[in-house]
Amino acid sequence: MHELSIAQCVVEEACEAASRSGGVRVTKLQLRIGALAGIVDEALRFSFEVAAEGTACQGAALVIERVELRVMCKHCEQSRAISDGFLLVCPECGSPTPDILAGQELELTSLEVQSHAAADS
Ligand SMILES: [Zn+2]
Repeated sequence: MHELSIAQCVVEEACEAASRSGGVRVTKLQLRIGALAGIVDEALRFSFEVAAEGTACQGAALVIERVELRVMCKHCEQSRAISDGFLLVCPECGSPTPDILAGQELELTSLEVQSHAAADS
C-alpha cells in the first residue's frame, strides 16, 4: 500500500525531529499533500495509526493540508488551478500545460512535541 510506506517515512522523520528537539512525544503533525501525490486521506490516516504504534508518534493528531493542482498555461500566460482530474490541460483554453506549479507536494510542514517536563506534570 502506497500510503503505508509514506506513513512510515513520516513517522520516522517526526520521531527523529522530536528526539533532536528533546521532545519525548509527538502530539501533532501537519502534512502538506498535493493533489498529484495520489494520497487518499483516510488511507493515510489509517496507515499513520499503524505506523505510529509503539513510537513517539503514537496518538498524535494528524493534520492534512491539501494543495490543489496548479499549472502554468503558456497560451493564457496565467497560472490555472485544475480541480477536475489530473489532466494537464488548461481549463480555460484547452492548451497542454506541462509546467506544474503546485500539486506535487508531500512534506511534513509542522510538528508539535511534548518535552519530558511537560510529560511528567
Ligand atoms: Zn490557457
